[in-house]
Amino acid sequence: MEKEIRVVMGLETHVQLNTKTKLFCSCLNASYLDELPPNSAVCDVCLGMPGTKPVINKKVIDLALKIALALNCKINQQFFFSRKTYFYPDLAKNYQITQYEIPLGINGKVKIRTSKGEKDIRIKRIHIEEDPAKLIHRNEYTLIDYNRSGCPLVEIVTEPDFNNAEEIRAYLTKLMQIVQYVDAFDSNKATFKSDLNISIEGGERVEVKNITGIKEVEIAANYEILRQKNIILRNGKIERETRRWDENRNITVSMRKKETEEDYGYIFDPDLPYIELDASYMEKIKSSLPELPDEKIARFMREYGINIKIAESLVYEKEVADLFEKAVKEGIEVKHASTWIGVVLRKILNYHNISYVASSIRDEWVIDVIKLYQEGRFNDLNTEMIMRKIFDDKMPPQEVIRKYGFKEKIDREKIKEHALQVIKKYEQAVQDYKTGKEKALEFLVGMVLKETKGSADPKDAREVLIELLQK
Ligand code: ADP
Ligand code: MG
Ligand code: ZN
Repeated sequence: MEKEIRVVMGLETHVQLNTKTKLFCSCLNASYLDELPPNSAVCDVCLGMPGTKPVINKKVIDLALKIALALNCKINQQFFFSRKTYFYPDLAKNYQITQYEIPLGINGKVKIRTSKGEKDIRIKRIHIEEDPAKLIHRNEYTLIDYNRSGCPLVEIVTEPDFNNAEEIRAYLTKLMQIVQYVDAFDSNKATFKSDLNISIEGGERVEVKNITGIKEVEIAANYEILRQKNIILRNGKIERETRRWDENRNITVSMRKKETEEDYGYIFDPDLPYIELDASYMEKIKSSLPELPDEKIARFMREYGINIKIAESLVYEKEVADLFEKAVKEGIEVKHASTWIGVVLRKILNYHNISYVASSIRDEWVIDVIKLYQEGRFNDLNTEMIMRKIFDDKMPPQEVIRKYGFKEKIDREKIKEHALQVIKKYEQAVQDYKTGKEKALEFLVGMVLKETKGSADPKDAREVLIELLQK
């Protein structure tokens, strides 16, 4: 057997924090606003004018601390900010304010689940820093938009604990869930970017910069694993370098041989105070944390007796988990609530690639659809169609039913009337069935469903037909 080449990967993920204003000035946090004119959310501070001084936005510390706690980090209650010096127009000061020597949190962990089971990904550090401006490269010149300059980020760095791309996807999915649970990130407005560090047995570490989202990191990881393995198999050498992800061509491209951290000349920023988080503040933030995804999954399995797959699906979004519990409280049986919300609703949301919150669907609409099903008023197929239409048309189920004329489920007696007609009309199929052709029955069931305009339950129709044909 061919020898398995060992792959080791780590991630550094930058998450845009959901605050109203920037990290060190009172400009609007442009990362969360669409379509502001370029260079409109700027001031002397975030443009780096001489003599201006940064003032820390306390809300950023609240949110970063919540994330650090939710990632099970040890908190450094005393810290300061540093300047990372580099010369590039995306930061007008020629340095980025970040945390280097003492990050806000260290030594955390995140539990992930993949097809191979559970695993802990260790978090090395989490720190606060400012986002640089956006550069737009044209053929002969470059445009700069400083709206994003100075917007708050947290950078979350893992230990090199990933061995394949599936683990990366599971981790990033979990991370995104957690930052949304603590209300620090809004996936419908802001983005997050990761740097992927990867080394394979026999080679040096390569860093792939600036990959947006989850899926792209997974594709980039698989690409880079393959590229490096091919080099090793041909007895080539992999040197330490920095590459970038070209998302149009789905390949990584070399940028430079990696500089070391010393090149940045980190230095303490004397414009900002030495910060100390006191015990009562820590307590306040801790007690404001919601029930986190892992705890919720465990409780759902225990309290409602549902399996881990459904529990994970329900808990994926906090608002969906709340919707499930609300439905159960309103008298929907767990089996109906968990299937219609954990499977069908999830499928619809994934299809539209939208979160439940952003879909602007009301809890009552979803609950009413499930109630109609539970009362036996609509069959599976029509219930699912109604559920889909409330998302498409943003209307309550009663209106959707009227608009599209969804037929209520009919009873067996009614089905029998239609079935008798179908039997009369399709003699050949009836003959075929009686001579053992099972397919003919499917056809007849289909005809009954058509006759009843989809209002018959397929299972009922089938049973009624079999009964009639036995005579
Ligand atoms: P640096 O100081 O060079 O940025 P760090 O120790 O901060 O290095 O690690 C940066 C990232 O690289 C982390 O996500 C870490 O998990 C990852 N990493 C460290 N060593 C390796 C390695 N040998 N192979 C792959 N990734 C690595
Ligand atoms: Mg680093
Ligand atoms: Zn500003």
